[in-house]
Amino acid sequence: MNLILLGAQGSGKGTLAKNIAKDFGIVQISTGDLFRESIAKKEALGLKAQEYMNKGELVPIDLTLKILKERIKKPDCKKGFILDGFPRSLEQAEALKKVATIDYVINVHLPYEECVARLTTRRTCPKCGDIDNMDYPGYTGNCRKCSTPLFQRDDDKPEAIKTRLEVYEKTTTPLIDFYSDRLFKVSSLGSPADTYKPVKDFLLKHGGKK
Ligand code: AMP
Repeated sequence: MNLILLGAQGSGKGTLAKNIAKDFGIVQISTGDLFRESIAKKEALGLKAQEYMNKGELVPIDLTLKILKERIKKPDCKKGFILDGFPRSLEQAEALKKVATIDYVINVHLPYEECVARLTTRRTCPKCGDIDNMDYPGYTGNCRKCSTPLFQRDDDKPEAIKTRLEVYEKTTTPLIDFYSDRLFKVSSLGSPADTYKPVKDFLLKHGGKK
């Protein structure tokens, strides 16, 4: 089963993707994570992408498709995958048609102000990529998985947040109509478990195997 998760930055779609991946045994592919890994390895592609990422802008489509296609070719994607952060434009959605068949698209909805609030207090582990939030109970400033001190991503700072959410609204929301024939909508105003429950039920009903 191949899925797409749509949702603004800060909407909790990464957390939802992790829950689905764990339960249904399919791979989460986050183009943002792929770029960050490439930057960490100081690869030419990553360093080029970084110029756009730091400003909160979209990375050009040729670089984005290249990193995505390489990932999808790997054997662990055979059972299926969840695209988290791709496609982000109609141009990318058209290009994706030539690369993979998509069964369902989950649209995670969270009001703008709440996305800003969650992104501003979001902190990331530089070692394992885990995400935490300063407002969550038990937050210590260290990663809950590997104890490394957390940091604030450059693109989680106020100016970049504004740009990212504007780009999302203008460029990515048209995909909700584009995928209307295979769309499932969920609100992420509640807890991660509240968001996941209806999605899990939907996937089980539509042929997802645990
Ligand atoms: P994310 O972690 O999904 O918020 O992505 C971080 C940044 O990576 C974005 O703000 C973009 O600069 C870049 N990026 C990730 N996915 C894409 C994509 N599908 N198209 C273009 N740029 C992307």
